[in-house]
Amino acid sequence: MMLLDEIKKMGAFDVNACFSCGVCTATCPLSENGDEFPRKMIRYAMVGLEKELLSSPQLWECYYCGECTKSCPREADPGGFMMAARRYAITRYSIGKIGKVFYNKTVAPLIYVFLSVFSLIGILLISRDPAGAVIFTVPEVYIHLAGLVLGAFVIVIAIANTTVMYRYTTGKRRLTKNIKVWINSLIKIIINEVMVQERYSKCSDRLRRYAHLFVVWGFILLMIATTIDYITGARPLPGILLGFTGGIMIILGSGFFIYQRLKGREPYSHYSDFADWAFIILIFLAGCTGFLLDFLTGQYAAVIMYIHLTVVFDLIVTAPFTKFAHAIYRTFALWLKEVQIK
Ligand code: SF4
Ligand code: SF4
Repeated sequence: MMLLDEIKKMGAFDVNACFSCGVCTATCPLSENGDEFPRKMIRYAMVGLEKELLSSPQLWECYYCGECTKSCPREADPGGFMMAARRYAITRYSIGKIGKVFYNKTVAPLIYVFLSVFSLIGILLISRDPAGAVIFTVPEVYIHLAGLVLGAFVIVIAIANTTVMYRYTTGKRRLTKNIKVWINSLIKIIINEVMVQERYSKCSDRLRRYAHLFVVWGFILLMIATTIDYITGARPLPGILLGFTGGIMIILGSGFFIYQRLKGREPYSHYSDFADWAFIILIFLAGCTGFLLDFLTGQYAAVIMYIHLTVVFDLIVTAPFTKFAHAIYRTFALWLKEVQIK
């Protein structure tokens, strides 16, 4: 299948209307001189230059604010094209191209059902006392063990996928050999791009940036809270407060995105792939169930705990192939720009 057809299937439905005027590039608040997008990316796709498209860090510089889509005189939806091209890139960067199954509308739901059932069976099997009776709680030792195994799994897959991206993106680029520059650039990007999302502030839709920041910081706070619990072996007050705040932030941030997608008014919410819906709903459920766990006891708490662990399991296992992957690929693409010799 032609490159453009494959990307169109992933959400770039109107891109054929593009006549390459460049208005989108002029409108984009993030596109810079010598680093133009989205027009250049659209041209690559139209003439079938897959390697050029997949090797472009610019693909990951876009935050899908949709400002270019609003300004396009041909209604070619350049912002939607950029999002679809990133979905395509996620499938190509994934080892063995297994990411493809998450963007197949028939297979993807089945995968999520399979993962959920698998997780639930595992949880029910370990929620038993030595005599085999159900104890309506999951022993913490198993939760921590599963967390470590899943964390290691995601790190290995993420490294493997990023290596594929590295092969695409470095190509003819020459990188500085100064390791100090490598480390300083990485720290700078993690602070500016992940923690503060400074470039995002150039987009006019401020609310969306705050919602994005809420989700990211919600996760960071939950990770810190979990680490405190793990190290202390208890639930000290700082851990409880951080977990509580993180949960609220995730619920608010992901709730905003679900609401926007349901409304479908903004360009970035016109089309949602199944994987996009699954991702945002799982985040929302993870936040809600985690939050409820702080208040419930007994069998209600056990049921919510089972749902929470299943949701978190689905989120973690699919992370290298869903929108979570943006965090890695965007960070890597921006880092690459910093360390390449101009
Ligand atoms: S996507 Fe629209 S604005 Fe951008 S180059 Fe094509 S026609 Fe022009
Ligand atoms: S969606 Fe926003 S960030 Fe992305 S190319 Fe269009 S204007 Fe630029």
